[in-house]
Parts: sequence; C-alpha cells; structure tokens
Amino acid sequence: MTFKDFSEHEQAVQLLQRSLERGRLAHAYLLTGDESAVLESVARTLAKTLNCLDPVRAGQGSAAVDACDACLNCRKIENENHADVHWVRPESKSRVIVVDQMRELMREIQLKPSEAAFKVAIIVAADRLKTEAANAFLKTLEEPPAKSVLILLSTEPQRILETILSRCLRLNFGGQGGGRFDDVTLRWLNEFGETAAGEQRSLLGRYRLMDVVGKRLSEIRAQVETEMKARSPLERYDDVEKDLREKWEDELTAAVESEYRRQRAELMLAMQWWFRDVWLQSSRAGEGLLNFPGQTASQKLGGRLPARQSLANLEVLEQTQRLLHTNVQEALAIEVAMLKLNL
Ligand SMILES: [Zn+2]
Repeated sequence: MTFKDFSEHEQAVQLLQRSLERGRLAHAYLLTGDESAVLESVARTLAKTLNCLDPVRAGQGSAAVDACDACLNCRKIENENHADVHWVRPESKSRVIVVDQMRELMREIQLKPSEAAFKVAIIVAADRLKTEAANAFLKTLEEPPAKSVLILLSTEPQRILETILSRCLRLNFGGQGGGRFDDVTLRWLNEFGETAAGEQRSLLGRYRLMDVVGKRLSEIRAQVETEMKARSPLERYDDVEKDLREKWEDELTAAVESEYRRQRAELMLAMQWWFRDVWLQSSRAGEGLLNFPGQTASQKLGGRLPARQSLANLEVLEQTQRLLHTNVQEALAIEVAMLKLNL
C-alpha cells in the first residue's frame, strides 16, 4: 500500500506528507484509530516512504512523500524483513509488551542504519506497554538517535501512560472528525470558539470561557436526568416495597452518571477538534483539513498563536479528558484547563 490508498484518512495522511515534504518529521508519532490493521498499514507506508529507492516526490529534487511499493526496500518492509525497520508487538501470554522487548528494540535503534536512510521502530498496541517497559523506553523517546523515527500505534490511547503520550505527535486515523457532532453541539462550539478567540488576556475573560463550558455541562446533566428518569420504572410504579425502590433509585443514579460522563466526553472531544482546527490554522496547514470550515473564530485564534502554543492546547485538552476519566473533581479540572489554554 502507498499513501494514496488511504483516501478515507486523507486529513491525517496529508499532515504526514506535509511534514515529509518540509523535512520536518517528528521524532515520535502516535497513530490512533479504530482498526489496528489500518494503523499498521500507515506505519508500514511511512517506513517505506522514508527508505524507498524510487519514491514519489512532491517536486523535482524535493523530499519523498510516498513510496513506490515495488523496489527492494519497499518489498522488504512489506514482508517485515528489512534490517532497519523494527516491529514490536505484545507477545507474552498476558498480551503485554515486556521490558526485554523494549531493551532489544532500543539496542537496534541506536545502531546506524545498515541498508537504508532511516531507522524505524514500530510499536503495535503501545497501550500494552506496561510501566517498566515504558520507563525503559522514555529516554529514547525523548532523545531518539538521528535518522530514526518511532511510530507508536494504539486503538486505546486513553490507556497509554501520560509520560509517553506527551512525547509523541498524535495523528488520528479513525472517526469522522467534526462531521459527527449534532446541531446543538455545533452551535455551542460556535459560542465557545467566539469566546475563546475574543479578548482573553484578562482573568475575567477566562472565567467567561469557563462559564460557557460549565453552563453547557449543567444543561447536559439536566437533560440526561430528565431522560433517564422518564425511562426508570420509578416513574411507573408508585407503591413498590422499599428495597425495590432503593434498587431502582441506585440504578437510576448510576445510569445518569454513566450517560452524563459519555456526553461530557463527547463535548470535550468537540473542543479538542475545534482546537485541532486552531492548530491547523496556526501551522498554515491548509483549509482542506479543517473539521469546522467556515468558523472564523478558529482562524482568528490560529492566526495569532504560534503553532507550538496551539499544539500545547491540544495536550491540555487531552490531559483533561484523561483526568475526567478518573474521579477528579470536574469543576476544578475544567477550571485548570481553561486557565492553561494559550489564547
Ligand atoms: Zn520503493
């Protein structure tokens, strides 16, 4: 496969190809998505492109942006027997990546490429890296040897250790971006964007932004409560015995909490996608990739933020999303996030 075969994931592929073209490849990528096979194909294609003997170039004399899929290197990489492209997969009985596998990989990656231009390490199911193996890997992840690229793959990125996540550039090869959100969310996102892009130098401005998020969360909670109550047997049976009533009440509370958390995660995701647009705007990556085209607010904010700060915003939101999965106090987590954002 070559990059042009990933038409479903055009956005992420274009981001990768643009970095290739500019010679600005990150040292470490985290590719996320719903299907492990797709992620493996993308990683394989990137490895081929970096080492292809007859690559597709953006222009004459410029950098390779796609592989030929036919040369000796491409074929070896396809068959996973290229000396400079290393794969690590969960192997042990418990389906984790053990520390010995990582030590072996790091030994390999420190050696000079033997037959190609780049050393590539591909770690399948990076969420299966347990603490010890991950810690052994951190130093390499922070300072990879020259001419090496680390590619981590995961269908469950929420399970990856924070220390690893924060050192990788994340690209998503799943989901449909902004198209998945309903009208209410999109309208709210508009308001959020306008507030974020408006005057934000003051603390008051930050609290206004928190208020926009807080109000929407209260609305979501109230709506979930109404809907779940209407479905509960409590509404239909008045005279039930105390034990049964209590059981139904507990079930209702649990159902409300779980549905609320799901919808809250969706709202956070919408914010993440919006800030991804801001990042695309500040890195001048092009209109075609935007999740919410026509949003002037993301353009405005992206226009004044350096790409580095926009990328840091994405990390803030991802971290908040992960914190919210734990039992952290919601209002506090949101407040910290809104104060940390670069606006
Ligand atoms: Zn080739």
